[in-house]
Amino acid sequence: MPTTTDSETAPESGAPATAPAIRFQDVEKRFGDNVVLKDLNFEVSKGDRVTLIGPSGSGKTTILRLVMTLEKATGGYIHINGEPLTHELRGGKRVERSEKAQKQIRKRIGMVFQQFNLFPNMTVLENIIEAPVHVLGQSKEQATRRAMELLESVGLPNKAKAHPLQLSGGQQQRVAIARALAMDPEILLLDEVTSALDPEIVGEVLAILRRIADTTDITMLIVTHEMQFARDVSNRVLMFDGGRIVEEATPDVMFTEPKHERTQAFLHAVL
Ligand code: ADP
Repeated sequence: MPTTTDSETAPESGAPATAPAIRFQDVEKRFGDNVVLKDLNFEVSKGDRVTLIGPSGSGKTTILRLVMTLEKATGGYIHINGEPLTHELRGGKRVERSEKAQKQIRKRIGMVFQQFNLFPNMTVLENIIEAPVHVLGQSKEQATRRAMELLESVGLPNKAKAHPLQLSGGQQQRVAIARALAMDPEILLLDEVTSALDPEIVGEVLAILRRIADTTDITMLIVTHEMQFARDVSNRVLMFDGGRIVEEATPDVMFTEPKHERTQAFLHAVL
């Protein structure tokens, strides 16, 4: 049963300070007749780095897309820092929040995609400053200063004027990481960020993400097939199968002594 209370549905100022960064409560997601997630419950504490593993089609990317509001849950509730994301319980009914309220909360969440998803018609710099200027209302000068710092930090200070398609896949992904960070997100979603990259480039992108994990307290929800990365960066691993969590453990335990036979079979296949 949903247990949302008035205090949890209050705006940011009223949200409990101890609320988890992300909370899934009885979440269901269906595409037509295909029920991809059912009665899904889990929490991610602030500053946690949680990796989702599991076979293809088990619902991992859908979970990230729900947090980013690229998809909307068909049942249940998702809370971000104690605040309902897209739907809330009001007067005993599950109702969708206003677009304005959803936009407000979405500002705090950044996502990096497998296919980079940069705007091809904009320069690297324009890609990075677009949301800070149009969503956060920063001045162009302020956003540009920050973008240049971020480009420096991902090793691409000379590419500000380039267009995405003039860059290698690894460079595009580093721009995409800079673009996500330009919004100063509290939550960073990483969806198979190295899967489209040549193997020799994977390491440089993972090194940047590792550094972000080491030097910030950004909450991270990660979908990856890079088990070593999951091991290095995350403090919790959730194993999914068929839209359900079949096992949850620290990386050390998950990767050395998984308990569930589905986890054992999955790790045996990928490690
Ligand atoms: P994973 O990330 O674990 O590989 P996904 O979350 O991508 O799994 O997909 C889970 C299931 O949801 C799959 O059966 C997939 O076909 C289905 N699915 C995902 N997105 C859509 C969509 N936009 N329309 C219809 N079905 C979808």
